[in-house]
Amino acid sequence: MLTKDCIFCKIIRGELPSYKLYEDAHALAILDINPITRGHTLLLSKSHYETTKDTPVEVLTALTQASYPVIKAVLAAVKAEGYNILINNHKSAGQQIPHLHWHIIPRHFNDNIHFHWTPTPCQKDEMEKIAEAIRKHINA
Ligand code: 5GP
Ligand code: ZN
Repeated sequence: MLTKDCIFCKIIRGELPSYKLYEDAHALAILDINPITRGHTLLLSKSHYETTKDTPVEVLTALTQASYPVIKAVLAAVKAEGYNILINNHKSAGQQIPHLHWHIIPRHFNDNIHFHWTPTPCQKDEMEKIAEAIRKHINA
């Protein structure tokens, strides 16, 4: 995707409106337009990278740094009891906008939000096989 067509690049350039919460040289935090809970915030990298693995470590470090004041402020503002940090990477994982962003989702007890997945036990030989396959790629 060209950055000129990217919704988040347009927001970063000020060509589309947003509720800006925090900005520094590398990161911009805005309210999500369709919040899962009140205060649901998106932390965007200011430069256009599609997913986590495409992003230079310096940029991820800068996002991590920016996340501290943003998380503290979001939680304080909505008196949250917890929070999820979520990154969808690629369409199959639910990514709708191919520009790296973290979801910061404030949580409360009994907020009735459920991220559904069904853990299933894995046999020892299957665990060994997949661990070995991953290690091979790490060492490649
Ligand atoms: P993804 O599915 O890519 O991880 O998340 C994209 C998020 O961006 C969604 O939660 C969606 O509500 C939000 N979103 C989509 N378009 C806009 C927009 O124009 N402005 C803002 N602030 N959020 C948006
Ligand atoms: Zn972009």
